[in-house]
Amino acid sequence: MAQKIVIGVLTSGGDAPGMNAAIRAVTRAALNKGLEVWGIYRGYQGMIEGDCKKLCSEDVSGKIQHGGTFLQSARSAEFKTVEGRSKAHDSIVKHGINSLVVIGGDGSFAGATQFAYEYPDISVIGIPGTIDNDIYGTDYTIGYDTALNTVITAVDKIRDTASSFNRIFLVEVMGREAGFIAVNSGIASGAEVIMVPERKNQIEKVRKFLKQRARKNKSSIIIVAEGLEEGSAMEIAEKIRPEFPQFDIKVSVLGYIQRGGSPSSKDRVISSLMGVAAVEALLEGQRSLMIGYKNEEIVHVPLNKTVKLHKTISDELLNVAELIGTYAPPKDPVEPKP
Ligand code: ADP
Repeated sequence: MAQKIVIGVLTSGGDAPGMNAAIRAVTRAALNKGLEVWGIYRGYQGMIEGDCKKLCSEDVSGKIQHGGTFLQSARSAEFKTVEGRSKAHDSIVKHGINSLVVIGGDGSFAGATQFAYEYPDISVIGIPGTIDNDIYGTDYTIGYDTALNTVITAVDKIRDTASSFNRIFLVEVMGREAGFIAVNSGIASGAEVIMVPERKNQIEKVRKFLKQRARKNKSSIIIVAEGLEEGSAMEIAEKIRPEFPQFDIKVSVLGYIQRGGSPSSKDRVISSLMGVAAVEALLEGQRSLMIGYKNEEIVHVPLNKTVKLHKTISDELLNVAELIGTYAPPKDPVEPKP
């Protein structure tokens, strides 16, 4: 007789709105398919410490609309060690858990890949959960859409005060080394300049823009991705202020508000699709993969690929961002070809 599937579900690393929806989907799908499911608290650290609870349907009631993760998250230095992972293995096996669903970012997936390699008796499925959207093999990660909407709402508000005083605002957004949040929130909020880590010499773009900026501009928004080689928004402002004393240059670092809030409908739906797909993958006998979402469809991606490969932003999107900011110098109109 086939071994009964007993799932442990955990959230690890940076939290993201929609993680609760994914836990709920894993739990409900598992229970409806006759499987047992345990919630593991505080990510890999809780796994090491055996901090877990068998979940029933009511445990995930009334959670879908909340940001954060009711299982809580953690960063665990101990899990990075062979001994830590061995303790984690012993502690889940004690409860009969033979399948793990890890909801987290690329760090969590690095840990999950290593764990799946060392313990072939445990099947490991990853669900991409990070507001940064920087995971290979998926168009979307859980929390990204909500974070984008949070940024756009904040920038719209900042623009009101920027207009009233003819100010220039550098708005720093999250994204770690990737510019997904920056480029998309920049386009959506009509930013004049979008600084992304994917392209070089971003500070020159700001200088160029400020040199041509007419006083009649009511407000100017410059979106600054946090992972720029030129430094933070604060450091960039310090560099450019002495060069442009005629302008009132302010900085707003949006920070952790980008991680919170009630998840958007898109995040709730994609989290639910991914959660169900994770359970179905386990039922198919899969044992080391990530559930992705590409071209409006669920896809399976080998877990180790998500760690080794890097997701890039399309040049098309970056070009659009550059083309529609107002810093471009006026040129003679291009004559249409006859
Ligand atoms: P995220 O998943 O959001 O990228 P982190 O990078 O902090 O967050 O990773 C979350 C956790 O994953 C870490 O605290 C650690 O326990 C585990 N982890 C990260 N990298 C590895 C690794 N190379 N080997 C084992 N575990 C890892």
